[in-house]
Amino acid sequence: MKTALVTGSSRGIGAAIARRLHADGWKVYLNYLESEDKARSLASELGTEAIKADVADPGQVAAMFERTGGLDLLVNNAGIVVPGLLQDISDEMWARLRGVNLDGVFFCCRAAIPHMVHQKSGVILNIASVCGVYGSSAESAYSTTKAGVIGLSRSLAKELGPSGIRVNAVAPGFIDTDMTACFSEGDRALVAGDTPLGRTGSPEDVAELVAFLASDAASFITGQVCGCDGGLIL
Ligand code: NAP
Repeated sequence: MKTALVTGSSRGIGAAIARRLHADGWKVYLNYLESEDKARSLASELGTEAIKADVADPGQVAAMFERTGGLDLLVNNAGIVVPGLLQDISDEMWARLRGVNLDGVFFCCRAAIPHMVHQKSGVILNIASVCGVYGSSAESAYSTTKAGVIGLSRSLAKELGPSGIRVNAVAPGFIDTDMTACFSEGDRALVAGDTPLGRTGSPEDVAELVAFLASDAASFITGQVCGCDGGLIL
């Protein structure tokens, strides 16, 4: 059975990805930081293990990979948002945002790659954002981390393609999760109005794309930034 790790899979998009991959027959390791009850409940639903690790901490990432062993698929999904005008973002906020959203992806890729290179196959999928593609007002710091994830994904695709490893970024638009729960109904309606398909997205919408990109059906797709945004252009 092929094995996968989905970071930040206690809830939201990561939990939907884990469920979808499980349905496709993957053995899926879960990862969480604070939502232990949700992670344990999903782990028992999927008959798997939930590993507590802060992806921003290289030591905790290394310990997590010791527990998973070699992977066939890494989905870097863990992420946080710190909204605000750039001049209002403190050193601590910026360090944490960069630590989770960018360093975390770097640390997990670095840990997963040696086994994939050794077996000459593997898939890495990094959850970026439309904000990293187009930029987003009052989310400059967050958008910067996601643009970094896109740069890392494209470069790794070039670096690892000769080893049979595919790397793609996924760029969701507005998805209904805890991350966007602070938006009012009015704001959500405005976003839906700006979206050609006329609605906001669900975690399952993103999970379907991830499952496709993880599968052999996507065997000629690498180095891409695949949108899942209903046509929204910020
Ligand atoms: P969410 O509902 O807030 O869930 C975030 C997940 O990340 C949780 O499982 C959380 O785990 C985990 N996490 C946070 N910090 C972590 C850390 N340091 N180490 C390990 N896990 C950590 O967010 P979401 O909406 O599902 O977002 C998932 C990804 O999609 C993020 O990368 C986000 O930037 C991206 N995205 C979201 C949207 C959107 O509209 N929702 C749009 C574009 C991109 P715990 O609760 O256990 O701490």
